Amino acid sequence: YRALQTRQLRQSVHAQQLALEQHASSLAQQVDERTQDLMRSNAELAAANDAKELMLRMVSHELAGPISSLKGMQQLTSRRLQRDAPRDQIEQAFQLMARSLARIERLIQDLHDAAHIQTQRFLVTYKPCNLEELCQQVLSEFTNGDAPTPTYQGVPGASPISAEVDPQRISQVLLNLLSNARKYSPPNTPIIVQLQQQAVAVAIKVCDQGIGIPSSALNRIYDQFYQVPESEVQTGPANGLGLGLYIANAIVKQHHGQLQVESIVNEGTTLTVVLPVSAESALVDIDAQPSTTSSCLTWALTYTHLS
Ligand code: ADP
Repeated sequence: YRALQTRQLRQSVHAQQLALEQHASSLAQQVDERTQDLMRSNAELAAANDAKELMLRMVSHELAGPISSLKGMQQLTSRRLQRDAPRDQIEQAFQLMARSLARIERLIQDLHDAAHIQTQRFLVTYKPCNLEELCQQVLSEFTNGDAPTPTYQGVPGASPISAEVDPQRISQVLLNLLSNARKYSPPNTPIIVQLQQQAVAVAIKVCDQGIGIPSSALNRIYDQFYQVPESEVQTGPANGLGLGLYIANAIVKQHHGQLQVESIVNEGTTLTVVLPVSAESALVDIDAQPSTTSSCLTWALTYTHLS
């Protein structure tokens, strides 16, 4: 009887030992998994931290330029005022200060918009809008005395090209595309803007003859803070934060449209904003529609004295 008891005891000890071993190995596996999770989230945290640092560096670098030129102009103006300099010298200094302030304002607005896009608090207010007038206004604002304001030849008798859009947001997109076209093109090269009426959409094209974008970078240009490596600003002082196209793309998407890009290095770039004409056509897949153009207006922008 005792022998039987001992055997049963041994068997139960063995079973418990097995269960313990299994438990230990499952614990070891859990520890392993948790360690890997921890390492992954540590790596993600480090990457997020790097991105934050890069962003802070870019923001402070971008703000430093206009602020230091503002400071320089302010000191110069007070010296000019002390020695009763001619009025046009003072006015010129004020104009330059206004430009620096506009750059600072733009940067802050871009950061604000990018934050709102990320938290999905970015709204558009649709209104029926004459796009011919909108393009004309944006082009006048953009040239702002630096170049002759381009105008277009309307088609007599044709109804104006219009769509339901948020005019302020679409103007912001166009201004951004125009400023990129100028930034990344040599001085004095033309920029062409075309407004096209298509079946259920309107297209606004901004074409430049600038440095172009390598095909390997084309799918990254809408990323936040992305700048094509080694692409240098060709015209004007503004550098940018790599937020312009991120915001433009978000605005166009919010309108259920598409921002398309075509580019050839050293030949030029065309960015096209395709927008549905109305909220109903927003539901129709733009890609599935023929893109036959029934009407097209063209503005040609040429700079003669920009550097
Ligand atoms: P940035 O503030 O750097 O101009 P954007 O988001 O507007 O940022 O553009 C992202 C990048 O795409 C730019 O840094 C530039 O390298 C490239 N890019 C944008 N537009 C053009 C263009 N018209 N021609 C050539 N490169 C462009």
